[in-house]
Amino acid sequence: MNRFIYADNAATTAVSTRVLDKMLPVLRDEYGNPSSLYGLGGRAKMLLDNARKQTAAALHAQPEEIYFTSCGTESDNWAIRGACELMEQKGKRHIVSTAFEHHAVLHTLQALEKKGYEVTYLDVHSDGLVRVEELKAALREDTGLVTVMFANNEIGTIQPIAEIGKICREKGVLFHTDAVQAVGQIPVDVRVQNIDLLSLSGHKLHAPKGVGALYIRKGIPLPNLMTGGAQERGRRPGTENTASIVALGEAVAAACETMEERARRLSSLRDALIEGALKAIPHSRVNGHREKRLPGNVNMCFEGVEGEALLLMLDQAGICASSGSACTSGSLDPSHVLLAIGLPHEVAHGSLRLSFGTETSMEDIEYILEKLPPIIQRLRDMSPLWERIIKEEQ
Ligand SMILES: *Cc1c(COP(=O)(O)O)cnc(C)c1O
Repeated sequence: MNRFIYADNAATTAVSTRVLDKMLPVLRDEYGNPSSLYGLGGRAKMLLDNARKQTAAALHAQPEEIYFTSCGTESDNWAIRGACELMEQKGKRHIVSTAFEHHAVLHTLQALEKKGYEVTYLDVHSDGLVRVEELKAALREDTGLVTVMFANNEIGTIQPIAEIGKICREKGVLFHTDAVQAVGQIPVDVRVQNIDLLSLSGHKLHAPKGVGALYIRKGIPLPNLMTGGAQERGRRPGTENTASIVALGEAVAAACETMEERARRLSSLRDALIEGALKAIPHSRVNGHREKRLPGNVNMCFEGVEGEALLLMLDQAGICASSGSACTSGSLDPSHVLLAIGLPHEVAHGSLRLSFGTETSMEDIEYILEKLPPIIQRLRDMSPLWERIIKEEQ
């Protein structure tokens, strides 16, 4: 019998019952504008303040350092474009980043390059990790910003954020991290890790889509991305999305309360799946470091297999997964992340990402391990590429 398994939590997550229970009454009853002076507005304002406290606590930041936005993408844009305006004032036009950032960062950097900024993209090596020495060597007199993601959304690798933060602070360079995949999954501490700017998003941690936050370290006069009203202490205009912000605060708090236990459970599920798949499927490999990765992230390549065909067959078996290549990105190029870690095009095309969450059980892993190997075999039986691989081997 078919099960239904949602194994694409890195793409988005279901809104949890705890979050929904907090959010629905706000949506229904607390429609006041937080800027209004009567009681109804004041109550909405208090809800925002509470969510700000919850979000700040999760990052070890202060509430005044949290600004709510419409999504992770907006937070990334604000941080990077704002930082560029700031460094411009000091005559600096050089940025250091990596080759495997999320498109919210990568495409923003590419737009800035067209405006005359210079970007050094650090190599992420075959293990999916940047090297701190290489980052150090890339810094110049005119470097004003380093932006390196906390954990990668495709291969789940966790970067040496504290070391990068330390170097940036010593050199007086602003440090932004896209922590959308990290917050609530692994420990984040903006003080200890010397982070100046940090992006997060609600829908990756069981809040709804369309809400995010940017942490701006106190004292950094980051220019606004948009012009408008005086919301968010004059820094992010637009009437606040009270219900979603309440949801974000609750989701962050919930994720942090259960983080340790969940990380332990998910990493053992992850490892069971990886071990099982490697054993059952020849010509398969794991992408990214085996330990320095998000607890719920599996990313593998199966030679001689097209990622899209694999996803369709998994879907028929009731399994929701993702592949970094072709259709998902609307182009025929394989994932820029897999190319960045040095995979050849034809191998990168056969990639599969499974990202587990709160709901994932050992039974789900067993079911996937039952379905996956015969699906791969069926696809390989139809593949001229696989025929070639087997011939070359003989
Ligand atoms: C999902 C994601 C984003 C974008 O967040 P949205 O809220 O969907 O705009 C940015 N960075 C990373 C690493 C992500 O996984």
